[in-house]
Amino acid sequence: MSRPADAMSLRRKGAPRTKHVAQRTCIGCREVLPKRTLMRVVRSPDGLQVDPTGKAPGRGAYLHDRRSCWERALAGALGPALRTELTADDRERMRAILASFPVEESDTARGT
Ligand SMILES: [Zn+2]
Repeated sequence: MSRPADAMSLRRKGAPRTKHVAQRTCIGCREVLPKRTLMRVVRSPDGLQVDPTGKAPGRGAYLHDRRSCWERALAGALGPALRTELTADDRERMRAILASFPVEESDTARGT
């Protein structure tokens, strides 16, 4: 046998290759992505909040940090995803976050 020995010893220890990565769906565009690439919005007693840690208790929804996704979510999926009715206050807060994202080319092209 002329097989290099180190090739075998490399495979011998360590964790299995297939590591599970939590996947989440952006409620704006429905793209499925690893959890950490999306922003989490959580329903807290004080209303909707962005949860930077991803660990806040409560029902959460995941979104890209993109205006188009937030706009779509605000127009439809966000309330149902969080099993709540968005209050005027919630919408205002979400709009403020949305406004902090850079304007996308598709937005300017639409002329909105
Ligand atoms: Zn999205």
